[in-house]
Amino acid sequence: MVATSMDQLVSLCKRRGFIFQSNAIYGGLQGIYDFGPLGVELKRNLIQSWWTSMIHHRDDIYGLDAAILTHRQTLYQSGHEDTFSDPMVDCRSCKMRFRADHIDGKCPSCDSTDLTDERPFHLMFKTQMGPVADDASLAYLRPETAQGIFTNFKHVVDSCSPKLPFGIAQVGKAFRNEITPRNFIFRVREFEQMELEFFVAPGDDDHWYDYWVNARKDWWISQGLSKNKLKLDHATTGIAHYSKATTDILYEYPHGFEELEGISNRTDFDLGSHSKDQKSLNIQAQTLNNNASNTKLTTPDQSQKPVVPFVIEPSAGVERGILALLNEAYHEEILDNGQTRTVLKLAPHLAPVKIAVVPLAKNKPDIIHKVKEIAQLLRKSNFGRVEIEMTGNIGKAYRRHDEIGTPCCITIDFDTIAAEDSKPEWHQTVTIRNRDTLSQERISISNLVKHLKETYFID
Ligand code: ATP
Repeated sequence: MVATSMDQLVSLCKRRGFIFQSNAIYGGLQGIYDFGPLGVELKRNLIQSWWTSMIHHRDDIYGLDAAILTHRQTLYQSGHEDTFSDPMVDCRSCKMRFRADHIDGKCPSCDSTDLTDERPFHLMFKTQMGPVADDASLAYLRPETAQGIFTNFKHVVDSCSPKLPFGIAQVGKAFRNEITPRNFIFRVREFEQMELEFFVAPGDDDHWYDYWVNARKDWWISQGLSKNKLKLDHATTGIAHYSKATTDILYEYPHGFEELEGISNRTDFDLGSHSKDQKSLNIQAQTLNNNASNTKLTTPDQSQKPVVPFVIEPSAGVERGILALLNEAYHEEILDNGQTRTVLKLAPHLAPVKIAVVPLAKNKPDIIHKVKEIAQLLRKSNFGRVEIEMTGNIGKAYRRHDEIGTPCCITIDFDTIAAEDSKPEWHQTVTIRNRDTLSQERISISNLVKHLKETYFID
């Protein structure tokens, strides 16, 4: 049985140390969450997997880590300052505030129909830089990571000399003052994005747009999401004026199908918007006039003519990815003995703890010594986090690791440390217990690392 309610996921996340309400000791900060010891491992593993597929395994995409604090002019030219808002309504009866496009004429809290007219609500967080709090010191916490890529476009071109088509990718925090954060980590005010801006010659954009829609969907499947819970939504209405096409990858969350990642053909809007002398550039998108930029964001096309490239943008949310993966991995199973076990069937490369080493008896120094030796061997082999599990009895240890998604447990027992002449067939062997099948196999320590790599942690 897969997870049926958000409550099951929220409860598991808190109980086992994945995700906590932020500032909970002071009543919590709405729409803000903290990642606990296991959550941070899962998050880093997901980000690393994205980084590996985007940057390490390709030669046409470059990494970047731009700053969060953003120049006001950048977010003016990008259009955010004027238009980055959601329509908001207030309920006059219970004073709650909602996104107008999320409700249908009545207050979801008290059912009243006495609502105010829609007003735009600005989503960007402002801050002041420097000691003087005036208009000139206004800066923003970025609402998306993308702008840092566009403002560094020339630096990357000048320092790395890429040829079209090529991409620049980054992962990092983004901030939006959402009117109604909700559905756990699905809609929050501080989150992380994994964004690629893939620059192509005008005319090649349709091909690359299709390529990235398919590539991104396949990537999420390779992370463990099932095909039948993913849907492509090719938007035809309500998309940005400069966008030639937008596809949302929707996932079936406990609260329904919603956006996990968006892929857009943003034409030459972004690089055009941030360029000087726009009239000389033959920009196709409608941009704001720019008298502030000191450069033209162009690069040579195949005929060596400078062009403002089109950009295809796959933009994914880390939190939405984690929620989808937890939802997909969560299972409650009835065992032969009638007991229920909760198991998180995460792909091994995402699992927060890779391997748990468990002593059959905690009060036997020889066994504990061997446990430490095996853990050391596995840690040196770079599997990721290897835990020595000393809590409770063996059954409890297995249950804990089922619940947090540890792909396998390695048990050290009396036979492991038995003298060679007494039990030659068991000497220097351990038991590996498989999280998903519950099967157990006896493996010789000399073959352990190789066996784990071939069976569980295939690259
Ligand atoms: P929505 O329509 O759900 O508000 P959006 O279309 O505004 O999302 P984009 O601007 O396309 O979102 O951002 C790209 C990705 O960033 C989204 O697909 C999502 O995964 C993530 N994201 C955006 N807003 C949030 C948020 N408030 N909380 C968590 N993730 C978010």
